[in-house]
Amino acid sequence: MTSRRLLAILAHPDDESFGIGGTLARYADEGVDVHIAIATDGVAGSVAAGYEHTLVELAAVRHKELEEAVAVLGGALHTFGYRDSGYIGDPANQHPDAFINADERQAIGRVVELIRHIRPQVVITHDETGGYYHPDHIFCWKITSAGFAAAADATQYPEIGPAPYQPQRLYYTGFSNRMVKVFTWLMRLRGQDPKRAGRNKDIDWTRIGIEPPRLHAHIDYRRYWDAKRTAGAAHASQGGGMARSRLLPEPLQRRYMATETFIRAYPPAPDGFREHDLFAGVVDS
Ligand SMILES: [Zn+2]
Repeated sequence: MTSRRLLAILAHPDDESFGIGGTLARYADEGVDVHIAIATDGVAGSVAAGYEHTLVELAAVRHKELEEAVAVLGGALHTFGYRDSGYIGDPANQHPDAFINADERQAIGRVVELIRHIRPQVVITHDETGGYYHPDHIFCWKITSAGFAAAADATQYPEIGPAPYQPQRLYYTGFSNRMVKVFTWLMRLRGQDPKRAGRNKDIDWTRIGIEPPRLHAHIDYRRYWDAKRTAGAAHASQGGGMARSRLLPEPLQRRYMATETFIRAYPPAPDGFREHDLFAGVVDS
């Protein structure tokens, strides 16, 4: 019987699929007890007064999509229920209920509570750039990193049971800037501006991605390519597809691109360190 447990804490409904769906599906299939916590309701942007009900409906739609995706990946879903903040400069960021405006102590407490209950050996969250500088991703990195440390400290959040717990690994999601450079080259070739990409033309691909030596863990998910695709497709309101799918024929993507990469934050790993399993060296406990 396995006693391996993994907890991924991510900002939005769809980050679990588009971002690290291959890794989550693989560990769930290999018998790891996978837990997926999503901080926000995924309702980005703002609406005119009198139309708040459409946001309530969108939140319900996105929650259903998330449940469907998590069922495909195989895992238990936890939601924090914060209001989605927008991208940099979005008026939604001024909303008092926006995730990025949440009471930090309370938000860290949510992380501590999950870690002390689930007792995961491995915790995953966004990296300090949030991948593409999304404020929700960065705030999620901040509270998860703080919660990771606080969960093991009996003097912090003594009111949250059942007992302090020290996970053995903390990973940040991250992708190579080498791939980003290929994408920006391909985008330019296709007449697209890599500095103004994405649905809202507000993503600058030239400033994102991680230096390859800092990507310590490389997880092969070729066998779970279809699971990741199906989980992503569940997020129909978000387009439901992987952004890169138009750039290369799928058999080539599956053969050469079915790897998700992570920075090992705890215990810290030196540049150039390479592992192929998030549970490498982890002791069942
Ligand atoms: Zn996100």
